Amino acid sequence: MSAVPQGSLLEQLAVIVGREHVLTAPEDTAPYLVDWRRQYRGPAEAVLRPASTAQVAALVALCARAGVAIVPQGGNTGLCGGSVPTGARREVVLSLARLNRIRALDALNDTVTAEAGCALAQIQRAADEAGRLFPLSLGSEGSCQIGGNLSTNAGGVNVLRYGNARDLVLGLEVVLADGRVWNGLRGLRKDNTGYDLKQLFIGAEGTLGVITAAVLKLYPKPTASATAWMAVRDPARAVELLARLRERLGDRLSAFELVSRRCLEAVLAHSGAVRDPLGAPHPWYVLAELADSGTHAALEARAEQALLECAERGVLIDLALAKSEAQAHELWRIRDTIPEAQFLNVKHDVSVPVSKVPDLIERAGSALERAFPGCAVYAFGHIGDGNVHYNVGMPEPRANEALVARRAEVNAIVYEVVAALGGSISAEHGLGQLKREEIARHKDALELELMRAVKRALDPRGIMNPGKVL
Ligand code: FAD
Ligand code: ZN
Repeated sequence: MSAVPQGSLLEQLAVIVGREHVLTAPEDTAPYLVDWRRQYRGPAEAVLRPASTAQVAALVALCARAGVAIVPQGGNTGLCGGSVPTGARREVVLSLARLNRIRALDALNDTVTAEAGCALAQIQRAADEAGRLFPLSLGSEGSCQIGGNLSTNAGGVNVLRYGNARDLVLGLEVVLADGRVWNGLRGLRKDNTGYDLKQLFIGAEGTLGVITAAVLKLYPKPTASATAWMAVRDPARAVELLARLRERLGDRLSAFELVSRRCLEAVLAHSGAVRDPLGAPHPWYVLAELADSGTHAALEARAEQALLECAERGVLIDLALAKSEAQAHELWRIRDTIPEAQFLNVKHDVSVPVSKVPDLIERAGSALERAFPGCAVYAFGHIGDGNVHYNVGMPEPRANEALVARRAEVNAIVYEVVAALGGSISAEHGLGQLKREEIARHKDALELELMRAVKRALDPRGIMNPGKVL
């Protein structure tokens, strides 16, 4: 570690957190300065690693006085470049990783109070050990942190039943942009005492304050689960299947994920350990997860009856029902491997009303084919929430690189269809640096004005994560 100059800002920061937690040497800071996809990289005066809310507050107050901007960072798994500096001004990275205590778990109130730096998987485990479920679940759950999940209002595979991160929060503790601490750590399901301030900080991507702890909702742990891999003719059948299964199974349906044949083929080519769950190829698949209290046999019988009805109506062409936990794991491995199986292409994380997903896939596909003949669309994701990960590439590597270089044109085609269908250009990953300029073309001017007013009210000096979101 390099020497910290006496009396400087860094020296004063070191007094608060200890010299070993003010990282300045390039080999120490490097992992904090580049995002997960390695698309964004920026310099920082230091990486700060506080261990308590009081330390975060003191660091923020000091930086605010010095006019140095703060980039909060959780697990650094974000996909929009929100968690790394931009290099446009003096910045420090504030890593929340050492704020990683579960402060309390109240099983009768069905709540857990966790510090921002707790890994998502750590909170899931704590809930599980108490006989409860914390339902937020993402591919990155081993390394992302709850502070990052709340700041991006993360989605994942269980939104259909439990909502996204925003829906799972009862209270927050936040260090404001001037270093004051707002203690909103309430575990109340009912509290109508004015504006719901916590919701402002959720999904704000660190631009309004630093989340240091949260009171999160827990749920009963299901005692039975079933996993089904189903083939359908097209996305319209997938949407119909969703409606019929919800009629029959209600909230037992916790995940409903769309996978195109092209995505499955990419996974098969990428990972030798995965095999096609069905004998013959089909154009589209749905991976569904069911969970219930009661016995496994009862859930399976109910599921089989509902699926049989769908098959008889022709909504469903073929089906593989997992017969063991290992088989269920294999089916989910297909879904979880899709992102890494097609790493370099033009990615979109969009949403439309669930009923419009087939239109989105059809219209964007035809428009792209006209503009970029032979292009390959990888469409998959949380169709139960109307959220499609719609990625576009070219089969041949050189042509693919050329397409990626023209990403703005690809984006424009997809976003035009999304807008026409009343959708959003960012369903669950946020805006960060990636979509900061694009959003200005899609959001209503009044909405943007209100967002800027909130930003000015909470961060008048503009030191919280500048160059992100707005
Ligand atoms: P970071 O990347 O560190 O930060 C994200 C943003 O939040 C930044 O703007 C940062 O400044 C801000 N921030 C972080 N912590 C705080 C804090 N304590 N206070 C204030 N601001 C803060 N996302 C989904 O929604 N659904 C998915 O299914 C999904 N799957 C993924 C799968 C993989 C393999 C990967 C790599 C990512 C996936 N993501 C998914 C994206 C990512 O994991 C989420 O956005 C996650 O919520 C980010 O958490 P993090 O702790 O890594 O945050
Ligand atoms: Zn997703």
